[in-house]
Amino acid sequence: MRAAFPGSFDPPTFGHIDIIERSRSIFDEIVVVIAENKQKSYLFSAEERRDMMTEMVKEWKNVTVTLCDTLIVDLLKQLNIKVMVRGVRNVLDFFYESELSMMNKALSPGIETIFMMTRPEYLVLRASSVRELAAFNGDLSALVPPVVVNALRKKYN
Ligand code: ADP
Repeated sequence: MRAAFPGSFDPPTFGHIDIIERSRSIFDEIVVVIAENKQKSYLFSAEERRDMMTEMVKEWKNVTVTLCDTLIVDLLKQLNIKVMVRGVRNVLDFFYESELSMMNKALSPGIETIFMMTRPEYLVLRASSVRELAAFNGDLSALVPPVVVNALRKKYN
């Protein structure tokens, strides 16, 4: 069975990678979907986010990365993927994610959302904190891989 893992990944972190690694041992194939939402402003372009993610998962043959500038459920229907994985860190994530999953269920009843709890070490890791820390030139090595550290350094230089 194939599953999708959609998100902004602005930038991708070890928290995201952990969810991908654990999902890819449950499902036959994982498609990481890099969302491009015209209403949102991102630090990295969709292509930059895709390229960083592709580099991070390159050793894993059952993981692919794709861009999406439509509704995620529309892309999933096109790809004939019926499961969506979302990571959850705490009750606030759960609250937000449960509403999102219900909206997606109304749009597309054939698609199931599966939640996966974060590992304790990534409980407070979020892309926005990584961006903030990078802007202050903080140590990022425990949060994101070198490809992302380098990309952040370039952005903020
Ligand atoms: P973020 O919340 O870091 O900005 P995204 O919006 O790109 O990340 O999220 C993509 C998915 O990854 C979401 O389901 C989100 O809850 C999950 N996620 C993000 N960070 C973590 C983490 N540290 N541990 C587990 N899941 C995470």
